[in-house]
Amino acid sequence: MNDDSPTPPPSSPRLIVIDGPAGAGKSTVARRLAEHFGIPLLDTGAIYRTLALIGQRQGIAWSDGPALGQLTVDFPIAFKTGEVGGRLVQQVLYDGEDVSVAIRTPMISEGASRVSQHSEVRAGLLDIQRALAAGGCVAEGRDMGTVVFPDARDKFFLTASLEARARRRHAELAVSGVELAEVQREVERRDLRDQSRAEAPLVQAADAVVLDSSHLEIADVVDRVIEIIAGRERPA
Ligand code: C5P
Repeated sequence: MNDDSPTPPPSSPRLIVIDGPAGAGKSTVARRLAEHFGIPLLDTGAIYRTLALIGQRQGIAWSDGPALGQLTVDFPIAFKTGEVGGRLVQQVLYDGEDVSVAIRTPMISEGASRVSQHSEVRAGLLDIQRALAAGGCVAEGRDMGTVVFPDARDKFFLTASLEARARRRHAELAVSGVELAEVQREVERRDLRDQSRAEAPLVQAADAVVLDSSHLEIADVVDRVIEIIAGRERPA
């Protein structure tokens, strides 16, 4: 933890970044923080997922880095945020089409993990992510603190045991009837690929606060993050 970081001037947009492996609870934590601070949510995994979906629809192989990189040029992705019963709900739009449901299948999880390996893809999506975060946000992904927003003050790395993460992912996918063991294998495979890739591998930033949610309720993780940020902003 780096409590010596300067407090941002009140005019600078608030940026909170959260990285970590699949199923650690990042999405829920990020959404609750966005609600708490009244700022948008930037789900960068959704961008990689959308690229995998559109690549598939256009007949581009997930192994074809140059063609996928080309697809990121003027990539028409947008997030539309609404509120349902005080809860933030986000739609992912590609060229105006709502792809929020289509990008959440196990096949597209695998596709996102594959397309994200390519340097052309990561480079192509860098400016898009920064532009989407320009007004301040809670950004969640794998390389927010290390590559996309290395200068952010409030960096968190959320992790949990493989079993805990597989259980969470399984509960999220409950309606799809996928077996827990299959979800665990999928999570493990994605972890390995995310951690071992050459480009922006999943690693915690040296200055990120690490939070392990294996034995913590998500609400406690959220409280802890809010407390840490408040501590940094409290006048000395
Ligand atoms: O977070 P989510 O599970 O939706 O991300 C899907 C995939 O996108 C991840 O498995 C990872 O390979 C990739 N990803 C990434 N960098 C990010 C966000 C996601 O490589 N910042």
